[in-house]
Amino acid sequence: MGINADPVTIKQVELRTIEEAFNNGLVVPLPPDRLTGKTIAVVGSGPAGLAAAQQLTRAGHTVAVYERAERIGGLLRYGIPEFKMEKSIVDRRIAQMEGEGTRFRAGVNVGVDITGHELRTRYDAVVLAVGATHWRDLNVPGRENKGIYQAMEYLPWGNKQGLQELAGEPPINAHGKHVVILGGGDTGADCLGTAIRQGAASVTQLEIMPRPTEERPATQPWPTYPMIYRVSSAHEEAGERLYAVSTEEFIGDGAGNVKALKLVETQFVDGKFEKVPGSEREIPADLVFLAMGFLGPEKSELIQQLEVELDPRGNVKRDDHFATSVEGVFVCGDAGRGQSLIVWAIAEGRSAAAAVDEFLVGETGLPAPIAPTSKSLTV
Ligand SMILES: Cc1cc2nc3c(=O)[nH]c(=O)nc-3n(C[C@H](O)[C@H](O)[C@H](O)COP(=O)(O)OP(=O)(O)OC[C@H]3O[C@@H](n4cnc5c(N)ncnc54)[C@H](O)[C@@H]3O)c2cc1C
Repeated sequence: MGINADPVTIKQVELRTIEEAFNNGLVVPLPPDRLTGKTIAVVGSGPAGLAAAQQLTRAGHTVAVYERAERIGGLLRYGIPEFKMEKSIVDRRIAQMEGEGTRFRAGVNVGVDITGHELRTRYDAVVLAVGATHWRDLNVPGRENKGIYQAMEYLPWGNKQGLQELAGEPPINAHGKHVVILGGGDTGADCLGTAIRQGAASVTQLEIMPRPTEERPATQPWPTYPMIYRVSSAHEEAGERLYAVSTEEFIGDGAGNVKALKLVETQFVDGKFEKVPGSEREIPADLVFLAMGFLGPEKSELIQQLEVELDPRGNVKRDDHFATSVEGVFVCGDAGRGQSLIVWAIAEGRSAAAAVDEFLVGETGLPAPIAPTSKSLTV
């Protein structure tokens, strides 16, 4: 219905369907009937890695998922807050995968604890699903002050706190503080919801772009993902959102801690941002979170050791079969397409699994891989 009217709540329909299935014991492990003897290492346990691993295990391959964090799940576990997606959803899927025979190796930083070369020789194929968490920074005067963090330095602690996994207080805590978040996207909204839950004195979210319209603009017809004004559950709770503003400077308290932020209003002229003269002002900021997007996968030891080529945007380059420039090494999810959405990560993981299966055994029992560039790889 998004073609010519408001969309129906497809998400709710799908959610209800799968919840009913779990509640009625219909989602059970589906182990393979026979093993192929082929081995695969999946690096990264986010939605892309998990989706690829599940398909490949069910196809009869022996699959080990490596994850550098203490627990499996990628951004589903440590990025997206509990109030937006409960971790029990991830846990029950992991339990199903364990029942099918997928092996999980958490706490292993591939490239450091085990080299890319070792991995390559030990396994018949490698799937890189390492995400795109190389964050964008903001180098304006005062950046060196304490109290300015990247969103992903903050959110994992908030998640652990929300799940009562911390013995004491989290090391970055918004309690009683004036919080400013730079970046008006989902990551910023997650910081906002977390800061509110920790009892922040105030939370302000800044966005350089003007406030979007509430209706789909005519220039972005269906099926384009429209840039419209969105209100997340966190935004409904509290906090202020400022649009068309840019950060000029972080102001310190003289003892090395941030205490305010100097901003200026912006306008979009001839395709670039310009400052509105005389619009500078200061807002209190004891704690600042940078949520300004990501610049592809981290250029880690693993990427260097495997010597996989990167594309011009800094993502791991792949062909239409998810193959990297190195024979037997595949890539899926954010690591190949840049920071995106869970649905894309799952779709890519499944499709990449089909490509790996084809590479290993030729005739694949899995649905044919759909090229990452294909429009039909949508879910
Ligand atoms: C704060 C935040 C909120 C988001 N909210 C939403 C949302 O509401 N809805 C939505 O659809 N999408 C959301 N996204 C985007 C979504 O989370 C990602 O697109 C998705 O998780 C990508 O999946 P992935 O499997 O490719 O990578 P990731 O989920 O990033 O997983 C990659 C994993 O690889 C591991 N890894 C990396 N290098 C190594 C190594 N050398 N050795 C071992 N392990 C390694 C990492 O630790 C990580 O666990 C959000 C993203 C962020 C940052």
